[in-house]
Amino acid sequence: MAERTLFHRIRDREIPAAIVFEDDEVLAFKDIHPKAPTHLLFIAKKDADFVPSIDDLTEATAQVPGLLIRKAQQFARAHGIDGYQLKFHVGKGGGQEVFYLHLHFLSEQALKE
Ligand code: 5GP
Repeated sequence: MAERTLFHRIRDREIPAAIVFEDDEVLAFKDIHPKAPTHLLFIAKKDADFVPSIDDLTEATAQVPGLLIRKAQQFARAHGIDGYQLKFHVGKGGGQEVFYLHLHFLSEQALKE
């Protein structure tokens, strides 16, 4: 089994996080060092969907980035956010620090609590 990362521990509630969305497939929480008024991280929850990085995608996990993007889009619509950026950092050279695939969601619009 792959090494458990920080985001496994957030997913499994071993480390607290400000969770803003969860369903059977995806968890979204606030980035602890936000780079925009709204800065969220979307991860896939299921072990079968686990992939460390975009660079590690296989046929079996190729749908995961689309799943995260779709949930981010639905989240934005549900919260009236009409402009945002979606980013994947890929590899250490791409600024990736946590090797549990995650989608950064950044917006200049603040999330209404
Ligand atoms: P990466 O650079 O790997 O794409 O992004 C990892 C992100 O996780 C960073 O933006 C960083 O601020 C965030 N982060 C690191 N540690 C924690 C933590 O303990 N809790 C939360 N919520 N975010 C974290």
